[in-house]
Amino acid sequence: MCGSLRPADAGHKAVLMGWVNRRRDLGNLIFVDIRDRSGVTQVVFNKELNPAMHEKASSLRNEFVIAVVGSVKLRDTNTANKNIPTGDVEVIAEELRLLNESKQPPFLPGDSTLPNEEMRLKYRYIDLRRDAMQRNIEIRHKVALAIRNYLSSQGFFEIETPFMTRSTPEGARDYLVPSRVQPGSFYALPQSPQLFKQILMISGFDKYFQIVRCFRDEDLRADRQPEFTQIDLEMSYPQPERVWEVVEGFLTAAFRAAGQEIQTPFPRMSYDDAIRLYGSDKPDMRLPEMTDVREAFAASDLDKLGANAALPLLAIRIPSVGKLSRKERDENKELFGAHAAEFNLLDIDRLEKSMPDAADQLKGMSSAHPDDLIALIGARDSPGLKTTLAGLCKVVGGYRLKLADKYSDKHKAFERTGDPRHDFRFLWVTDFPMFEYDEESKTWVPAHHPFTSPHEKDMDKLESDPGAVRAQAYDVVLNGTELGSGSIRIHRQDIQQKIFHALGMNEEEARARFGFFLEALEYGTPPHGGIALGLDRIAMILADAESLREVIPFPKTARAVDLMVDAPTPVNEKQLNDLGIKIKG
Ligand code: ASP
Repeated sequence: MCGSLRPADAGHKAVLMGWVNRRRDLGNLIFVDIRDRSGVTQVVFNKELNPAMHEKASSLRNEFVIAVVGSVKLRDTNTANKNIPTGDVEVIAEELRLLNESKQPPFLPGDSTLPNEEMRLKYRYIDLRRDAMQRNIEIRHKVALAIRNYLSSQGFFEIETPFMTRSTPEGARDYLVPSRVQPGSFYALPQSPQLFKQILMISGFDKYFQIVRCFRDEDLRADRQPEFTQIDLEMSYPQPERVWEVVEGFLTAAFRAAGQEIQTPFPRMSYDDAIRLYGSDKPDMRLPEMTDVREAFAASDLDKLGANAALPLLAIRIPSVGKLSRKERDENKELFGAHAAEFNLLDIDRLEKSMPDAADQLKGMSSAHPDDLIALIGARDSPGLKTTLAGLCKVVGGYRLKLADKYSDKHKAFERTGDPRHDFRFLWVTDFPMFEYDEESKTWVPAHHPFTSPHEKDMDKLESDPGAVRAQAYDVVLNGTELGSGSIRIHRQDIQQKIFHALGMNEEEARARFGFFLEALEYGTPPHGGIALGLDRIAMILADAESLREVIPFPKTARAVDLMVDAPTPVNEKQLNDLGIKIKG
């Protein structure tokens, strides 16, 4: 292989097949770097040794595919290339075969500057030849393999579930596949294998997993793909802790496969604490939490500041930012955004002058160093405002992240240090609310999919106080991003009915959508639970890549377009007729 030759191979014959990475013509000597997946090696064509072959080598161009037989030779110390692993040797060509030519590619895999992403996606096969992409795809392979091996070693079976199925309720729009044999009927591509994996528990496969493609027709944010890969698993009879242990096990294996050691067990935090301390259900714990510093102030001072004393006065601390100019402080106010009617961003410099004792005390309470940036935010105290604790915390948490981003060069908390305790801050967030209130439809909607089990002790609040019902749901979070989410499921038909009812679905509707599942639940369903994690995101983190598109071989753009194959496309009239479909307009 082109990247594997070493000094110990000197004197041996080598057979190399690959692409012409670069050709340098020095007259009597032509140097060709030949490249395959494993790397590059320099091949030398010497006119004096073999004029005909030298002539042939002069016709080689970038990305031609060749085969070379030759002998491996140590390079002189002054010509050795210390930048590549094969740089101490070269191959003196004895035979050259041209296996295929190449048109001049729109860009070269070896180019030091990348073309724009559209070009990379259109000519993805050239882009994938680049070192970085070869490495990313290798990491992805190794990670997936490590996960499979680990789960298999723990007694899990990988079981496939259908792609052509019916709508699954993960909250996104479905991709639909029209049926030709039943015109007017559609399959849906699965948003997840949720119901199938639960049915597999009913079927007696008590440990299931699948590395599986899921499809969600969402308006794409920068870091989403319409089809993505989940590590999906389900088990019978687990406590949540058992699911977490399995996940920690396969993540340890996956990270190790990419050369990273992580620490387990991951810390745990309830949803309420996550909101209170970080203003987010996916806390980035590489930076300090928020602190309620109300106690630093006398009641009369809070009054003077116009702060609502019934809600926290939250201090954000961003380390090592240093002194800020007036201008920067003003910019930071703008960064806070248009919340002035409800929230009060207090100027800490002014506070230091007007209430020096309180300022000192609040710095102590949030363990601030002199170099740290402190931002202080409270809810305004005016009649008519219905600010909630969660509302306040989320706004402050959002601001905390904006400041963290802005000053990342200063605090450096987002840089890898080599210490997994800092670099990979995993966390289990537990006890999510069961329902969220949707202002638009004025109804309670499930915060997770509707098969998530509420806590036993909250059952009686399902109808009377839905907002107070906690779910047996958990997320695994890493450095402020959600890697996966799961739950203990409802395994009793009567409770499942109740949940549908609480969601405003009457029995008829529930039967129409999930009748098959409700029926299955009646045939001896064991208690069960599981989780799904995004493989693409894990691969992205381990490849230290900027976007999911860097670890997906054939991704789609933000407009859900595959630029290489040019999909989606209109189809011809005959295909539409066969399907009984007419395009409007
Ligand atoms: N099906 C869920 C999802 O895709 C995960 C789970 O509950 O296992 O988010």
